[in-house]
Amino acid sequence: MIDSHTHIYMSEFDADRNDIINRALHNGVHNMILPNVDEESIDALHNTIATYPHICHAAMGLHPTSVTPQFQQQLENIRPLFDTHTYCAVGEIGIDLYWDKTYRNEQCLAFAEQIRWAQQLNLPIIIHCREALDTTIEVLQQFPYDSVRGVFHSFTGTPQQVHTIRRLVGDFYFGINGIVTFKNAHLEELIEAIGIDRILLETDAPYLAPTPHRGKRNEPAYTPFMAARIAQILNITTQQVDKITTANTRTLFNI
Ligand SMILES: [Zn+2]
Repeated sequence: MIDSHTHIYMSEFDADRNDIINRALHNGVHNMILPNVDEESIDALHNTIATYPHICHAAMGLHPTSVTPQFQQQLENIRPLFDTHTYCAVGEIGIDLYWDKTYRNEQCLAFAEQIRWAQQLNLPIIIHCREALDTTIEVLQQFPYDSVRGVFHSFTGTPQQVHTIRRLVGDFYFGINGIVTFKNAHLEELIEAIGIDRILLETDAPYLAPTPHRGKRNEPAYTPFMAARIAQILNITTQQVDKITTANTRTLFNI
């Protein structure tokens, strides 16, 4: 099993990162993908990757909530890292209009520029999209249909939105996190619309811990809770969910 989106390099895990890794391995989570946030998080990300090189894979990018009016300089600082380090994706990148709409235009420009990097480097992208699907699709439509590969991480949209993405942008994967286990979330139709062949499992730790750990710090060892709930919805076994989502993640990120 793979946790396709986790931030275990953050300071929330400084005191017990080794335990976190061991609990994940004990629960069958053998790999994880660590997307960057901004310039401040790069050293911690690289240190964690260097400590667990056979378990953790890094993605590099500038998160939309970290985009400032100086985003060109921010991107100029990040881009050279792709020449000196190995990354499995450009991420996490995208549009977030939930917290703040002030830099909507800058977010769009930074997102488009980082999609160009992904195309130059032949890497997939990890999309963070919150309250911004229309804007995210507008940016992606600047590129030829189905020419960008990637995942909409932490996706909790509607089946209709899945169809819209497929129709306007291309064949994307969708990351499903702990929200799928929440009693009031009702993601059954969404999971069915996506289908197991395009689902990736993720925790988004330290955020959004699944039931029965809701409200506490999340960690990669909880990924099987998502697998079990998806299995229940699709009426297949947890082992099948594990096998297929692991293959999906390996295919997309080439790990
Ligand atoms: Zn994230």
